[in-house]
Amino acid sequence: MAAFDENPFASLLKVGRPENALPGNLSEALASQLQGITGLVIYPSSLAVSKGILYALGRKDIDKYLLIGACQRSQLGTFLKFAVGKGTAELQGLKLYLATCPTSHEPAMLIRQALPYTCPVLVGTTAALGCGDRLGIATPGHVRAVRGTGLAGIFAQQSIREMTRTERTPEEVMDAATWGVMQEGYRTGFGSDADHLKTTVDIDRCLSVGFTMFTVDPGEHVDDAADSASQSEVAVKFEQLPWDGLESTPGDCRNRYVGQTFKLPELTLDFSEETLFRAAVKYGRAVAHTVKMYRHLLEKAGEGNFELEMSVDETETPTSPSEHFFIASELCRLGVKWVSLAPRFVGDFEKGVDYKGDLARFEECFAQHVAIARELGPYKISIHSGSDKFSIYPIAARLAGQLVHLKTAGTSYLEALRVIAEIKPVLFREVLEFARSRYHEDRASYHVSADLNKVPGTPELSDQQLPGILDQFDGRQMLHVTFGSVLTWKEGRQYRFRDRLLLALRQNEQRYYQQLERHLGRHAAPFRKA
Ligand code: ZN
Repeated sequence: MAAFDENPFASLLKVGRPENALPGNLSEALASQLQGITGLVIYPSSLAVSKGILYALGRKDIDKYLLIGACQRSQLGTFLKFAVGKGTAELQGLKLYLATCPTSHEPAMLIRQALPYTCPVLVGTTAALGCGDRLGIATPGHVRAVRGTGLAGIFAQQSIREMTRTERTPEEVMDAATWGVMQEGYRTGFGSDADHLKTTVDIDRCLSVGFTMFTVDPGEHVDDAADSASQSEVAVKFEQLPWDGLESTPGDCRNRYVGQTFKLPELTLDFSEETLFRAAVKYGRAVAHTVKMYRHLLEKAGEGNFELEMSVDETETPTSPSEHFFIASELCRLGVKWVSLAPRFVGDFEKGVDYKGDLARFEECFAQHVAIARELGPYKISIHSGSDKFSIYPIAARLAGQLVHLKTAGTSYLEALRVIAEIKPVLFREVLEFARSRYHEDRASYHVSADLNKVPGTPELSDQQLPGILDQFDGRQMLHVTFGSVLTWKEGRQYRFRDRLLLALRQNEQRYYQQLERHLGRHAAPFRKA
């Protein structure tokens, strides 16, 4: 009965496991004692024990540190290589060797081994909320928005395009999610999404740092002209498809579809020759490219170790049910396994603002996409540019149930700017005017329609009115698409805004987390499991 004789902390160190949170009173006591010893403000929820080692995350000013402690110095192992501080202290009656490490990449890799819940996992066909974080400081807020909803939170999510624009690397994206999850002690498991990958080089970059989901974007291989081309033009283009890559022939393909009626529980699809030609011409090359990307992943990661999404959301024309059916049945035939597919929906999914279009029409089309996803999967329907589309969430939640992946990214940056508008009005005014000067150029690759003439000039606004810009359509969009310029603009060797924005947000991190919890919580609420 030795456990009863020992102090609770000693027995916890011996038998505690990473997947179990420490009892609340003990973590509060440990946090305050550790604070007294190290001078770090410890996040009580970050405390964890694994194999006799105590782990904690703390902050000093705006910098965060990993703190580890164990009864034997040797237990601290490789962490010591990166330690910036070492010492011994008595904690809850035990003498511990302590070390502090920076929250940099190598310690993050070690933490992912020691505390498996800080590693992303496969989330399969659980409904998911994608939470992109362009600043690298939002994960604790994302955790709070998702916690208790039953949704899988995708906390490490960024496209290669966004990484380029924000000068971040896949390592930084993954590490930020790891530290954020540790800080909040979120042990439910989270997903990752290497978003909008266009090449196998992109895949390799993200695979090497532990991404588990890969969104393949074959948009460049989609032939948008197929919708409007003449019948004879599409007939010629059909013959010219990459049949080797599709492991088929024009004749075989015709036999699979033309004259066939596919009866799905809630939908019947008739394929005429023209229907097939247009679908195949539009998406055939995209299918072939997706197969190539999938097989590359299969070879590099191994079956069962990754998840795939296919996205054609950033193309010109909506994906019809027949086209969706063609894509999915061809991917099936070619042995591709995927967890989600992002069609190009009807209506406008502009960045950072609500859905623009006919809701009844959206509902009808979304129901058809879901019917196909249930029949040929099941897989999830992925909604890209999904932030702030409050009018469609109830529809999507009702029709798709679990089979939905709502992807957001820029909205967390916008909510950061809202906090800046509240606490640093002078800085916000500067950002707003700079964004105005950049909008014309930065909007090029985005689907937006903001009119700068409708964004109020800063001299007209009182400080109290500044946060309201984030609720104004044109202002919100203008700020949404200019993030890359705002975050990476340099004057000489100094960033013009980045460091000041991050400093203010780090100094007021709880305020930012609360804002994210509120805002992304509104995204999660319609989808939460009853
Ligand atoms: Zn997208």
